[in-house]
Amino acid sequence: MSGKRALFFCAASSSIDPKYNQAAREAVRAACLCGYEIVSGGTIKGTMKVVSDTARECGARVRGILPRFMEGLEYPEMDDLIWTDTMSQRKELMREGVSLAVALPGGVGTLDELAETCTLVRLHQCDAKIVIFNVDGFYDILERLFDYYVETGMLDMPTRRKYIFVKTIEEFKKEL
Ligand code: AMP
Repeated sequence: MSGKRALFFCAASSSIDPKYNQAAREAVRAACLCGYEIVSGGTIKGTMKVVSDTARECGARVRGILPRFMEGLEYPEMDDLIWTDTMSQRKELMREGVSLAVALPGGVGTLDELAETCTLVRLHQCDAKIVIFNVDGFYDILERLFDYYVETGMLDMPTRRKYIFVKTIEEFKKEL
């Protein structure tokens, strides 16, 4: 791998408040300006398309990982388009060579990708920095859950500190 890679977990839904896609644009633009190649699920759906559109507008390399059963949904202008057999393989390959993993507002799919990455960081199987972009309080409830894990002894504080929640694009930029 020649450069830095940032992975964005995000919504497949198109029925979300536009403020979440606006935050996605700002975050991807900031990452591109810092020289990151952008990795995502690589489909034309929801925020994933916004992520790829923004990365291309910024002139960054774009890498998408899709399971074969999503053929037809791939973003048309990927620099690297990688097909997998399963969703599990997709998650594994999405993390390949990545130094930054960002969770934008998303649903269960995003939560799944984030939770697996949090577990792998905890087990020292992934060394990406995890940044959760808490746009307009979207992830307040997850932040409380993570703190509750610490209170109940389910999660140790050093690991908890590796799950970085940011509220604004200025805070986000400081993590790049
Ligand atoms: P969600 O957060 O539930 O909208 O799911 C989005 C994430 O899960 C994406 O990053 C994809 O990797 C995966 N995903 C879930 N559903 C879909 C879908 N219908 N099309 C493409 N990717 C999906």
